[in-house]
Amino acid sequence: MSDLGAQVGKARGSAVSSPTVTPVLVAELLAEGERMPVYVHVIDHPDARVLVDTGMTQLHPAVADMDPRLDPLSEQVDFDLASIDLVINTHLHFDHCGGNRLFTGKPIYVQRRELDDARGKDDYTIREWVEAPGVQYVPVDGPLELLPGLRLVPAAGHTPGSQVLVVQASGGPVVIAGDTAVFFAELDEPRTEGQRLIRALDPEEVWLSHEHEPWRPQREGRV
Ligand SMILES: [Zn+2]
Repeated sequence: MSDLGAQVGKARGSAVSSPTVTPVLVAELLAEGERMPVYVHVIDHPDARVLVDTGMTQLHPAVADMDPRLDPLSEQVDFDLASIDLVINTHLHFDHCGGNRLFTGKPIYVQRRELDDARGKDDYTIREWVEAPGVQYVPVDGPLELLPGLRLVPAAGHTPGSQVLVVQASGGPVVIAGDTAVFFAELDEPRTEGQRLIRALDPEEVWLSHEHEPWRPQREGRV
């Protein structure tokens, strides 16, 4: 990508006050015999409270084989739905957009390519969760500086329209990556455009949707 250097440069700019990232567990799915967590992430930025992905809030016959165990944001006593100012979908697979319906009236930022695929391709997602009544998408074409120090960057691979959120934190970039990598090994040895882009940012931490802890690079000289 020709503009990768520019993206890295932006992510390295000076930060005034550092946003914080908080993972929230909203579900568990059964995948190949193992329980897989489903996380969403809250970014407390000085200008706004941002939610990345919305998890699941309901069961659905299409995914019954994954035996979902749900802990929806709407039922978590210490989670204030009204405190969220804007929402980002990394992509629109069912376990990332199932709570979009809780955020009617709030802008939901997604790459236009992803929205088109979710609306147009069969067996892509649970379409009624994408198209829940009152949900308002803001289609994004390419990179977008959402707020100072918060940048949306397209990261194709898991889906062609996937995006990640790059948070400019005091220690270096922190990436909220959705499923751009599902497992740590995919960042250790990146293969997709999106995975290589994340590594090129030289991030301090990368939060994935289905891992409890953030991935961190192994720095030379560090113990
Ligand atoms: Zn996915």
